[in-house]
Amino acid sequence: MNTDLETVAKERGIKYFLVSYTDLFGTQRAKLVPAAAIASTCRNGAGFAGFATWLDMSPADADLLAVPDAAGLIQLPWKPEVGWLPADLVMGGKPVEQGPRNILKRLIAEAARDGLQMKTGVECEFFLITPDGSEPADMADRQMKPCYDQSALMRRYDVITEICDAMLELGWKPYQNDHEDANGQFEMNWDYDDALVTADRHAFFKYMTRSIAEKHGLRATFMPKPFMNLTGSGCHAHVSLWKGDRNVFADASDEIGMSREGYHFIGGLIHSADALAAITNPCVNSYKRINAPRTTSGATWAPNTVTYTGNNRTHMIRIPDGGRFEFRLADGAANPYLLQAGLLAAGLDGLRNRRDPGQRLDINMYTDGHTVEGVKCLPLNMLDAMRALEKCDVLNEALGSFVPSYLKLKTEEWNAYSRHLTQWERDTTLDC
Ligand SMILES: [Mg+2]
Repeated sequence: MNTDLETVAKERGIKYFLVSYTDLFGTQRAKLVPAAAIASTCRNGAGFAGFATWLDMSPADADLLAVPDAAGLIQLPWKPEVGWLPADLVMGGKPVEQGPRNILKRLIAEAARDGLQMKTGVECEFFLITPDGSEPADMADRQMKPCYDQSALMRRYDVITEICDAMLELGWKPYQNDHEDANGQFEMNWDYDDALVTADRHAFFKYMTRSIAEKHGLRATFMPKPFMNLTGSGCHAHVSLWKGDRNVFADASDEIGMSREGYHFIGGLIHSADALAAITNPCVNSYKRINAPRTTSGATWAPNTVTYTGNNRTHMIRIPDGGRFEFRLADGAANPYLLQAGLLAAGLDGLRNRRDPGQRLDINMYTDGHTVEGVKCLPLNMLDAMRALEKCDVLNEALGSFVPSYLKLKTEEWNAYSRHLTQWERDTTLDC
């Protein structure tokens, strides 16, 4: 995009730009570039040593260049002299194939060739905890069913409204903020948009929420399951597919308002769900949120099975009303770009290959799941998900060399975890 960022900087009082990219593990890496140097950075990119971040690169590799996308500029509401710029990764004059934002842009362009645009909204649940990370920060937040707790929400009024005011100022159209189902847990909702816009906002939201929480002496975490007895943090995604102004998923003649294309798209997610979990539930800890025992609030609100339903929150996919569905599998650790890329890749496969999502189940999956036969279960741990991804033709084909790179780094992570001796093992095995 041809925006003159030097002029924009002068007009808006921006002194520095954070040229930022998100690596394979979702960590945001950045260089702080003075406004006087932003024009040359836009031309040449900001230089990084790729090996120093999670990208499956070598110390011998040439410079990794992060080329800012001016269209994604966000002026930090809590520090307006800084402008955040999402960047695309280039090495040796070519886009880096495993770069998360590059992958999403490639898939978006592929869908656009068929005239299709995926629009999504994400619900980023997070906890406000003590700075040492040991417990929810609000000592009075002790209800067994704390969801929508008015008093606990209002005790965090200053921090929640600072974040919401920021979103209002940025034009994201935020519309609801609440206390969620775990003590110390919150959710803030803003409008859905194009998948890339949502991915950039999702990445920025995590950074903004952590930064503003820190200002208030708190720590924000998106960790999927920080406390075993409490509900974990999901990142539910609401998905619709558009052809110009027409919502391809909408069909008023269907019982619950979903079109044939919508069911095929869902069929694609169901077909690749176990492999997709390696991306949407990327950590060892992710599998302590799904497949979890009941929490103190009464429900985990996380799926255990690869199933879909109408307006019912006990399945992997919920169709709350016509023209969209909610994908409830992803969690707070999901990489904002890879989440969207995974959904688009698996969904488009479903559309192209007319995948059958199977029977809609309108039962409480937590209590009556055992009464239906042949239901696929979600992976029980990160290794199972990684193995499913390795074998998944659909995602290997759509995501290209990202998959082996990602699996290589994730295998190292799994091995590091496996070498960790837990107290549980000592307690249960010392006297074997
Ligand atoms: Mg929620």
